[in-house]
Amino acid sequence: MIKLENVTKTFKVKGNTVTAVDNVSLNIEKGEIFGIIGFSGAGKSTLVRCMNLLEVPTSGSVFFDDHDLVNATSKELRGYRKKIGMIFQQFNLLEQRTVLANVCYPLELEGVKKKEAKERARELLKLVDLAEKENAYPSQLSGGQKQRVAIARALATSPEVLLCDEATSALDPLTTKGVLTLIQKINKELGVTIVVITHEMKVVEQICDRVAIMNKGVVEEVGKVRDIFLNPQSETSRKLVFTGENRNDIKADKKSIRIVFDGISSTEPILANLILETQVKLNILGANTEDIGGSAYGQLLIERPDERSVEIIKKYLDKLGIKYEELDFADDEDKSDKKYSDKEKSVDDNSKINKLTKNKKSKDKEVA
Ligand code: ADP
Repeated sequence: MIKLENVTKTFKVKGNTVTAVDNVSLNIEKGEIFGIIGFSGAGKSTLVRCMNLLEVPTSGSVFFDDHDLVNATSKELRGYRKKIGMIFQQFNLLEQRTVLANVCYPLELEGVKKKEAKERARELLKLVDLAEKENAYPSQLSGGQKQRVAIARALATSPEVLLCDEATSALDPLTTKGVLTLIQKINKELGVTIVVITHEMKVVEQICDRVAIMNKGVVEEVGKVRDIFLNPQSETSRKLVFTGENRNDIKADKKSIRIVFDGISSTEPILANLILETQVKLNILGANTEDIGGSAYGQLLIERPDERSVEIIKKYLDKLGIKYEELDFADDEDKSDKKYSDKEKSVDDNSKINKLTKNKKSKDKEVA
């Protein structure tokens, strides 16, 4: 559905060249929910903005349903862009317009009649569970509600793909869950292909089918979420899986053992049995369990005891066929060289969107 071939994007910043995306090739399949995860500054936003040419790649190709976007005419590009909706962390709603008027906006730009546009907008507000808020202004809404309006607006032109750029990063965990459930519903019920950009493994676990791990502009690993979760290969994916957004809470600088539970083993009292059988006093550094695609997953990070005890633990886990891993990485701080702030990005997004809108308006004038 969306294919990137050797995409590179560089920016010139005060005479220096920053490579935000470095020779990335990806194939996003129709109907899937595809995650792109990495720490801040990894190049995720730039990559996703290359998918609809909000950023024009410095080199490489972007295909939408086999159509070459980089070499498309601006008219063709406008047509393809209608099929690729986008939502942002900062929602980017028009503050002076009501909720209904916000959702109607892209339809107005397309020249849809007012009555028809309102009908469609109301349908979409119902879909995102905000029918009763149609006359409210964005300032009167919570973050989660604003994002729902943004989703409804992005769906107004019936896109085939929805790009979600850190769509839940400004939301609390409960609201995040609700918005992710909505995104999943849009994928399942409307058949919209979804690309999710995030720095949170939890987001990927909750909704994604496949995931790409990004670091320093490079895609280091691509695979099914389950496979990457159970057997992360790259250093970045290991850091994201082991500690994720809670990396400051979990003392990952300590030598530790990560025990991975899958659907079956998580029902067993593994830890209690482990302590009873080995007689080792275990120190838990962190733990979480998740439901991925209907199966229960979990991981437990324990401090690595003395070598003899480690051998007993490993023997015990081997006996039960439970996956584990010994970790030794130092908790080096996120060395993001991110100089381009989210705020700047939001202003940039708005100005680009406005520019597109203006182009459309002046084109309309020409036609008239
Ligand atoms: P992420 O979304 O993973 O946080 P970004 O794609 O926003 O990463 O940024 C990747 C790198 O590119 C960062 O070093 C950032 O400062 C730089 N960058 C992104 N956009 C611009 C821009 N418009 N101008 C200059 N540098 C940019």
